[in-house]
Amino acid sequence: MTPVEKKINELREELRQHNYNYYVLDQPTISDYEFDTKLKELQELEKNHPEYEDHNSPTQRVGGEITKNFQTVTHKNRMYSLDNSYSKEDILDWEKRIQRILGDVDLEFTCELKYDGASINLSYENDRFVRAVTRGDGFMGDDVTANIKTIRSIPLVLKNGKLNSFDIRGEIILPLDGFEKMNRERIEAGEDPYRNPRNTASGSLKLQDSAEVATRPLDCLLYQVVVADNPFKTHFETLKYAKSLGFKIPKTIRICKNVEEIMDFLNLWDTKRHELPYETDGVVIKVNSLHFQEELGYTSKSPRWALAYKFKAEQASTILNEVTYQVGRTGAITPVANLEPVELAGTIVKRASLHNADQIEKIDLHLKDRVYVEKGGEIIPKIVGVDLDSRAPDALSVQYITHCPDCGTELVRKEGDAKHFCPNEFGCPTQITGRIQHFVSRKAMNIDGIGAESVELLFKNDLIHNFADLYELRMEQVVPLERMAEKSALNLINGIEASKNIPFEKVLFALGIRFVGETVAKKLARHYKSIDALMAASFEELVEVDEIGEKIAESISLFFDNEGNQILIDRLKNYGLQLSMDESELAGQTELLKGKVFVVSGVFEIMSRNELKKSIEDNGGKVTGSISKKTNFVIAGANMGPSKKTKAESLGIPIISEQEYLDMLLDNLWL
Ligand code: AMP
Ligand code: ZN
Repeated sequence: MTPVEKKINELREELRQHNYNYYVLDQPTISDYEFDTKLKELQELEKNHPEYEDHNSPTQRVGGEITKNFQTVTHKNRMYSLDNSYSKEDILDWEKRIQRILGDVDLEFTCELKYDGASINLSYENDRFVRAVTRGDGFMGDDVTANIKTIRSIPLVLKNGKLNSFDIRGEIILPLDGFEKMNRERIEAGEDPYRNPRNTASGSLKLQDSAEVATRPLDCLLYQVVVADNPFKTHFETLKYAKSLGFKIPKTIRICKNVEEIMDFLNLWDTKRHELPYETDGVVIKVNSLHFQEELGYTSKSPRWALAYKFKAEQASTILNEVTYQVGRTGAITPVANLEPVELAGTIVKRASLHNADQIEKIDLHLKDRVYVEKGGEIIPKIVGVDLDSRAPDALSVQYITHCPDCGTELVRKEGDAKHFCPNEFGCPTQITGRIQHFVSRKAMNIDGIGAESVELLFKNDLIHNFADLYELRMEQVVPLERMAEKSALNLINGIEASKNIPFEKVLFALGIRFVGETVAKKLARHYKSIDALMAASFEELVEVDEIGEKIAESISLFFDNEGNQILIDRLKNYGLQLSMDESELAGQTELLKGKVFVVSGVFEIMSRNELKKSIEDNGGKVTGSISKKTNFVIAGANMGPSKKTKAESLGIPIISEQEYLDMLLDNLWL
């Protein structure tokens, strides 16, 4: 072994262990900084020594692979559903059914929490991760390997295993704190928050860009090993073994000798589940002996040896006092139920979301109704029903507002929209201040010395009506305001001045165009390089840009078609804000590959795959994930996928090497 290979192996081993300490054990032993330094060192070595490349290296966690169409794969062993139970009687019945088949044997059960996410089947060969497939219809699922690789708690290489090849099944979940963080970011981008962690987790698995998946705080909890000739006698031992291989198996499993012990476990977790960092909607009870499991077998849809017990959704009943309406910065109206405070799942609930007008209509809500509030998959409690028997005969039904609670403008609801909107974009106070607050926020213009409250204060005092007005503010206007000392006024003015240097992509995000979050703003800035070019782009041109869909394109066109917005942008230009990429950002960028579409496949030596892609984009070309008639060139590295090769050949698309690409770029031989 060469010294370099040795070093690479050591770094990989070390990083694997740190990943495990951090993501599985939750006990990091080094700082993030030290980790990143080692990772960079490994990346550098791998780049310079592609001969040691490894698909399961810790450097693969960052993703980057694009999957346009997920391949359908048949499960080697079917992924079954579970029968449900809701009471002790149901569980006793199940036990009887089992005893009838097995003939009154001594039984032992395991109880595990039922993790609420998306099921996944992970395949390992010779201690290495090879494939991940979703449950699909149980017989066939989608190959989501590239996306799953980015989940840090899933081991890519196992510690000293003794099973040659096996499958392990688990649930991909989104822990609650991570889910809340994602939602905060969405709200900042003017997008509707995700409804619940489960759907968000399963949606994440089908994202095309694995680099995007890598940014999501997903986790994977494992619950079953599927292997021919399992050397262990019980389910519990098998899980314990899986844990020793590096898998994340929750500690909440218990062995129970009888239904009484099972009930203890159920009752314990019925309340304690609210303390967990993730969601669970029940418990799965399994026969522990693998021999008995085999004898019991399966019905047409589920194993006879396992049973799910579903917790009742946490519910409470209370009185609806009033419905109020919130106006978002995009003008979307959200009805909110104001309730007589009631305890639910360990917290006091005073407000519940009513989502939109349809929901109020569906449950035929009346004022002073006794309503049922539930905390299910959603973070914000919701109203699920009304106690009709206790409704007073003269109760008034809730009439959805027709006009904006803030500015009095008549609301509109376009076809296909879930919500009503206040169309008074430039006159509605909440929309105005909301937009300015977004503009100054940390991820946008990051203006020091001005927060949500100062925006309201300035607005109330008639000093600003839009974000461009900020740049007209003078000291003598700000100082006399209440709670504004000289020093804070100076901070504010200086902060505004300094924001003129904030790069274009942030300014674009700060404009608050609906659906244009940080990432999209970055994409657009890179692609168009100036606000003028972006404003000149037609809808058709916009949807051609990588990852810009019709919804985003329409929103951008609408925004720039608006005369008020055009005036604001003109003003920002005059104040000297960065409305194009500056020279240094543009350095090394050309238009040489304009209009050319590339597909990159295989492993490269001179550059990493990402560097190659960046080089194409920097020179104005476009990189797509799959070969089609529109593809101009395929750049092939080692181990290019055989199906890609056939496809390129059949369409007559030139396949070139990475060196040929660079030569052509130098000689500008594209025409
Ligand atoms: P259902 O989809 O309601 O039929 O429930 C079956 C699903 O529960 C399985 O496909 C698993 O993805 C999921 N599940 C979650 N936790 C567990 C667990 N501890 N044991 C078995 N299955 C589980
Ligand atoms: Zn309004």
